[in-house]
Amino acid sequence: MARIDSILREARAGTGAGEAELLLAHVLGRSRTWLYAHGDEELDDAAAQRFESLLERRRAGEPVAYLTGQRGFWRFDLQVSPATLIPRAETELLVEQTLARLPADRELWVADLGTGSGAVALAVAMERPLVHVIATDASESALAVAAGNARALGLGNVEFRHGNWLQPLAGMRFDLIVSNPPYIAEDDAHLGQGDLRFEPRSALAAGADGLDDIRTIIGDAPALLASGGWLLLEHGRDQGGAVRALMREAGLGEVETVLDLEQRDRVSLGRAR
Ligand code: GLN
Repeated sequence: MARIDSILREARAGTGAGEAELLLAHVLGRSRTWLYAHGDEELDDAAAQRFESLLERRRAGEPVAYLTGQRGFWRFDLQVSPATLIPRAETELLVEQTLARLPADRELWVADLGTGSGAVALAVAMERPLVHVIATDASESALAVAAGNARALGLGNVEFRHGNWLQPLAGMRFDLIVSNPPYIAEDDAHLGQGDLRFEPRSALAAGADGLDDIRTIIGDAPALLASGGWLLLEHGRDQGGAVRALMREAGLGEVETVLDLEQRDRVSLGRAR
């Protein structure tokens, strides 16, 4: 038996402080703030052992979000698994730009392509109760995670369909189509670093220039957009020019790129005429 505060003190030295706290809170089924208030309590051996094995896996590189099975996004917590990309803070820009184009008082149809854990689809469904969201993914196990998240958040205005990009949506019409597709070039060294090593390759990499899936989506989306409907895509920092060109070629108007907080290309969008 050892006190929670001394166990944490030791663990913080080897891992990031925040990470050690997240992992111990997860083992105990408590919040981080609970830990601060209960530093004088003893940790039993079984819990200490579970914590130590998570620390070991973290030191070997496994993402904290996969070890705890959770990641915060927008204003909720999502369950994640190695079948899904770990939601990124920068993707909240995609949500903000989407919401800015969805009046709250209208019943509209939105598609989220490659939804993963459901992050974007669920944020839109939560903020726009009148909107119907249909989210697709090529991975059944990702869809199971996303559907579990929708249930946990009590969101009934989102539906999940299995298949590639727009393929499960044939014949439908949308007011807005949004996607955070894979956009990293296949030979990009980042794929061999950090959390990315553990995430699904199919959710990260897309061909020699990283644009393979973006090309598919921009090619197919206009046919499913209502007149005046929007297409919004997240992409890499050096892809704004290429994505805008693809959108214009596909006949979209009002094409622009929105920069993230670091002033880098992050989201491009265009409108069906
Ligand atoms: N933004 C992520 C990264 O570079 C990639 C996410 C994606 O491919 N959609 O780590």
